[in-house]
Amino acid sequence: MRRLFGMTVLAVAAGLALVLVVGLVSAAPAGAKPDPRWRFYTHDTTRYTSPWFAGARRIMVPFGCTRAPYYDPDPRCAHRRGFHHGIDVAMPCGTPIYAGHRGRVLRPSVPGTPGPAYGVHPFRLRSGPHDILIGHARRVYVRPGQLVHRGQLIARASDSGAPDGCHLHFEVRPNDGGYTTAIAPRRYLELTPRARP
Ligand SMILES: [Zn+2]
Repeated sequence: MRRLFGMTVLAVAAGLALVLVVGLVSAAPAGAKPDPRWRFYTHDTTRYTSPWFAGARRIMVPFGCTRAPYYDPDPRCAHRRGFHHGIDVAMPCGTPIYAGHRGRVLRPSVPGTPGPAYGVHPFRLRSGPHDILIGHARRVYVRPGQLVHRGQLIARASDSGAPDGCHLHFEVRPNDGGYTTAIAPRRYLELTPRARP
């Protein structure tokens, strides 16, 4: 009986330890509190780091034809699906966004100015032959004409223009291109899967 009691105590202690460890691990990514409005239109559950943002984050909507309901049907896509012109990366409101490339902030008068669907302060960085568009930022720390260096804090993620919660919309176009000219942006985002502990 005493032996049985001892084993029960051990089992309870082991269970408590497990709960503690699981709790610590799930709490580990600081500031990664999920936004209840996020909807993920990809099977990729990997968390990625990038020179463009702080922390390790999940892709919410990839580039290209998508089941996500926010876009008009596009002739490139079957089943009247819409086309997403960038990559959406889910991140809590206020997450720092950095310049992953050196570039110059374009003036809004340059052709290809993004519309209100990109939020109140969308802006573009010209980096060589590409214009990199940052959408849904609310606090923007750079001004038109400014030269920014890699690693510079340029904005913070928000839900401006984004009913599906705070995220970064990252889009790449040829110089002066409109949204229909957007190209697959993934290699510019330089995503690296977060190392498993
Ligand atoms: Zn988007």
